[in-house]
Amino acid sequence: MVKKNLKGLTLQELEEFMATLGEPAYRARQVFKWIYKGVTQFDSMTDLPKSLIKILNDKACISMIKIYKKFESALDKTVKYVFLLEDGNMVEGVKMEYSFGVSACVSSQVGCRMGCAFCASTIGGMVRNLSGGEMADEVLAIEKDTGKKVSRVVIMGSGEPLLNYDELIRFLSLLNSPLAFNISFRRITVSTCGIVPEIIRLADEGIPVTLAVSLHAPDDVLRNRLMPVNRIYPILQLLDACKYYIIKTRRRITFEYALISQVNDTQECARKLSMLLKGLLCHVNLIPLNPIREKGFEKSKPDRVAAFEKILSSSGISTTVRREMGADIEAACGQLRRSILDEVKE
Ligand code: SF4
Repeated sequence: MVKKNLKGLTLQELEEFMATLGEPAYRARQVFKWIYKGVTQFDSMTDLPKSLIKILNDKACISMIKIYKKFESALDKTVKYVFLLEDGNMVEGVKMEYSFGVSACVSSQVGCRMGCAFCASTIGGMVRNLSGGEMADEVLAIEKDTGKKVSRVVIMGSGEPLLNYDELIRFLSLLNSPLAFNISFRRITVSTCGIVPEIIRLADEGIPVTLAVSLHAPDDVLRNRLMPVNRIYPILQLLDACKYYIIKTRRRITFEYALISQVNDTQECARKLSMLLKGLLCHVNLIPLNPIREKGFEKSKPDRVAAFEKILSSSGISTTVRREMGADIEAACGQLRRSILDEVKE
């Protein structure tokens, strides 16, 4: 008999499963709490009766991903992880430490099919979606490794989260559950390359997570070149969806803009971006690009980054140049996984 994996079930689903075993709802709550403390053995759930532990050992299991490799920064407390999933696939995650606590950046898919020109995650295409339980496992693995509670989560690793919508929502509800991670929706960021119908769907969900939109270009000609998704959902449609998201959630949108030398970092681009975003409740994160060896793109020079930032700020647009965390273990999204896949192939 195939055992039921309890990792990733919502509390209600777990209650339903326990009911099939003739157990009351409070037993589900006990098991649920243990699972998100990182416990994977029913024998360690000390408040369950032995008879129930035996039944659970027979009928259920709790999956757990493993840390395959980790890269620790000597400059700050950033750690980049390569996680090994139970089917042998790998994804990346990052732990960052700030004065306000520990943040985890997690992946939502193995690889990605969106084809952004500057991204290593998309080079081998999309392999599969992660389950909500696997995404939760990335957070649990980071908590277990660091011995610290994660207080913010950013879903900005490999994959397009909004194309794994149902499992994303499952993950968000686990993050927010007081009996699991107990993280406020306001401390969770979902990134997207701009899947317009799913932005609208998320806006209607009633969960005020921060939306981070990867913009990376101020006009359709350049964005079509850098991000193929723009040919389906061009910039003005995307901005309309963003406005809808702001109205529904009352949350400020974050626009991510990776500065690529001589491609999208000109003063003209900065001026166009200012015009585009003027009056919108938003914040712009400027990120000097992590170079990708396969793509031939270079990081913008500091003086160009500063000039770009100045134009946005002087137009009244809230802008930050993202601090480079873990600069000595620099590896763009997807690069670590790819280098390990290459290593395995060799
Ligand atoms: S930037 Fe994000 S959406 Fe684009 S290819 Fe990479 S992982 Fe996919």
